[in-house]
Amino acid sequence: MDELKEIARLREQLNRAGYEYYVLDNPTMSDYDYDHALRRLEELEAAHPEAVTPDSPTQRVGGQALEAFTQVTHRVPLESLQDVFDFDELRAFDQRVRGVEAEVSYSVEPKVDGLSVALEYQDGLFVRGATRGDGSVGEDVTENLRTVKSIPLRIPEVPGTFIVRGEVYMPKKVFHALNEEREKRGEALFANPRNAAAGSLRQLDPKIAAQRKLDIAVFNIQWAENVEFHSHTEGLNFLADKGFKVIPHAICQTIEQAVAQVEAIGEGREHYPFDIDGAVIKVDDLAQRQTLGSTAKFPRWAAAYKYPPEVKPSRVTDIVIQVGRTGVLTPKAVLEPVRLAGTTVTNATLHNQDFIAEKDIRIGDTVLVRKAGEIIPEVLSVVLDKRPADAQPYLFPQVCPECGAPVERDEDGAHIRCTGAECPAQLLRTLAHFASRDAMDIEGLGIAVVENLVGAGLVKTPGDLYFLKEEDVAALERMGKKSAQNLLAAIEKSKQQDLSRLIYAFGIRQVGQKTGKVLSGRFGSLDALQGASVEELTAVEDIGEITARSIVDWFHSPQSLHLIARLKEAGVNMLAQQKGEDQRFAGKTFVLTGSLERFTRDEATKMIEDRGGKAAGSVSKKTTYVVAGEAAGSKLRKAQELGIPVLTEEEFLQLMD
Ligand code: AMP
Ligand code: ZN
Repeated sequence: MDELKEIARLREQLNRAGYEYYVLDNPTMSDYDYDHALRRLEELEAAHPEAVTPDSPTQRVGGQALEAFTQVTHRVPLESLQDVFDFDELRAFDQRVRGVEAEVSYSVEPKVDGLSVALEYQDGLFVRGATRGDGSVGEDVTENLRTVKSIPLRIPEVPGTFIVRGEVYMPKKVFHALNEEREKRGEALFANPRNAAAGSLRQLDPKIAAQRKLDIAVFNIQWAENVEFHSHTEGLNFLADKGFKVIPHAICQTIEQAVAQVEAIGEGREHYPFDIDGAVIKVDDLAQRQTLGSTAKFPRWAAAYKYPPEVKPSRVTDIVIQVGRTGVLTPKAVLEPVRLAGTTVTNATLHNQDFIAEKDIRIGDTVLVRKAGEIIPEVLSVVLDKRPADAQPYLFPQVCPECGAPVERDEDGAHIRCTGAECPAQLLRTLAHFASRDAMDIEGLGIAVVENLVGAGLVKTPGDLYFLKEEDVAALERMGKKSAQNLLAAIEKSKQQDLSRLIYAFGIRQVGQKTGKVLSGRFGSLDALQGASVEELTAVEDIGEITARSIVDWFHSPQSLHLIARLKEAGVNMLAQQKGEDQRFAGKTFVLTGSLERFTRDEATKMIEDRGGKAAGSVSKKTTYVVAGEAAGSKLRKAQELGIPVLTEEEFLQLMD
C-alpha cells in the first residue's frame, strides 16, 4: 500500500534531516519543509498505527509523565576521572603511564560540564538511557533522552547490545534563553547550564524535558558485540559513522603536545556550545588501557585537567544599584571590559552593602575579578596600590533608585530593601501578591495577566486595577471581551473583601495573613490602623517592635498614602466585617470615663466589641469594669460606691494581651 511506503520514506527523510541538523549542524531541509513533512507523517501514522516504529521522529515525545524513575544497574560502571590541577601534575601522570607503557598516544578532549549518561541499543534500536547515578546504579531517563534530537533512535548494522556513554548538556544559548524566560515569569533562575540540564533530565514529564532542547556529546563505547576496536579513536570514528554527535578530540604523541592542546581548549572554550570544566587526556590504545587498569576509584589511563578560575584586574568605573522584584537593592560594579574565561566581562556583582563595605570597594578602584565557568563574575579584592587619591568610600543609597522611597535593612540583615508600596521595580510582584488567593483573591489575575496589564501600561499601582476599562483590557493580547468582563467582575468583587485581606494584600514587611487578621480584629478599620502608634501596635498580641515599626513606616510613606487614597476612591472596603475569633470579653460590660490618651472612645469601644464585649454609657451593677482616664468624674465615684473594678488605660490594654 502506498501510504505505508510513504510512512517509511518520510521517516527516513526526517531522520536524515534531523541528523544533518542536530548532529552535523548542517541543515539541508528548511524548517518549513521539515514541519510539513512531520505533520504528514503524524497524519499517516494516525491512520496506520501498526506502522509506527520506535525510531519514528514522531516518537521522541510520546511518553506519559512518570511517578518516579526506576533504577538501572549499569552493565559497565560509569567511572569517574582522576583530577589534576596543573601541568606538572599532568606531566607526572604521563610519567606514571610511561612507566608501564613507554609508547603512548593520548586523546585530548574538552570535559563537558553536563551529566553523564549511558545509552543502550538492542539490535540497533535505542531502548534505554540512564543517568550515571553513583557510577554503578543510575536512573532510567529513557523518555527524556528520546527527546534529545541528536541521539539516534536507530543505528544501522549494530547487532546485539551496544552501550555508549556521553555527556548530556544544555547548550549555552538555550540556557540563556531559558533563564531569560524564567526571569520574565518570576521563576527561580538556574545557576548554570549544568544545573539546568540536570533539572531537565530529571523531569518526570518528558514534554517538559523536550522543551529544554538538551544536547549530547558521546565520548565512549561502554559495550559492543561483534565489533572490535583497537583504539579509542577507532571507537569515536565508529560512533560518528553511526550518527552520533561525538566529542571533539585530538591525538597527541607527547605530553607536551597534550599540554598545548589542553591550553588551546581552555583558550577556545567560548566557542564550544557547552560549558567545559576541564580537559580530559586519555591513553588512546585500548590494550594499553587494559594493562594500565583502574584503581578503586578511577582508571589509571586518563586524567581530567581542571582549569583554574581566571583572575584579572579591571577598573570599577561605576557602582550601580539594581532593584529586584522583591525590592532588594543589589549593587553591581561596572567594569572596564576585560576578557575572562572566554567572555568579555563588563560588570560584576557586589552582592550587598556589607560586601562593598568589607572590601572597601570604591568607584575608580582597580579590582581583581574572577569568573569560574558560567558563574557571574565576582570582585575578589581591591588593588590598593592603584587607588586614586580622590577615591571616596562608597555610600549606599538611602532611597530606592527606582522610586525614591526610603530603603530599610531586611530582617535577615544582609539585604537592603525598598519600602515603596508603588515601586515600579516591584510592581509585578506587588500586583501578583495583591491579587493572590489569600490576599484580595482576584480570580483570573495571575502573573501572566499581570504582566500583560503592566506591559500595556494600564496598571502602575494596585489601585489602578479598580479603574480599568473593559475596552482597554479586551484589547490586550490573549484577552478578548469575555475574559475582560470576567476579570473586571472579579476585581469589582474584591472590593468587598475583609479588611484583614486588604492589610495582608499591601505586602507590608512582617505582616502576613495572620497579622492581617489580628490587626483587622483589633483596629476594625484601616483609618484606625493607619493612626496607630508603635506603642499601640506593640500592645497588640503577637506584634513586636519590628513589626510595629514596619507598619507605622508603611503607613507614613507617601506612596502608601497615595495607594490608600486610590483604593478609597475606588470604593474598596476598609472595615473589618468578620467578627474576631477572640471573644474574651463576651458577657462583659465596660464603661469608659474621663479623657483617654492612648485611644479615642470610639477605638476603645471597637476594641471591646471586637472581643465580644459591650460598652455602656452609665455605671450600674451590671458593669464589669470602668476604664478611667484623666479627670474622671461621677462615673468613677459611682463605680467606687458599687465596688466595681476601675482600670487605668494601661490596665485596660493589658487585658488585650
Ligand atoms: P568527575 O565527575 O570530575 O570525576 O569527571 C568525570 C566526568 O567527566 C565523567 O563522569 C563524565 O561525565 C565527564 N566528562 C565530560 N566530558 C568527558 C570526556 N570528554 N571524557 C570523559 N569524561 C567526560
Ligand atoms: Zn522602589
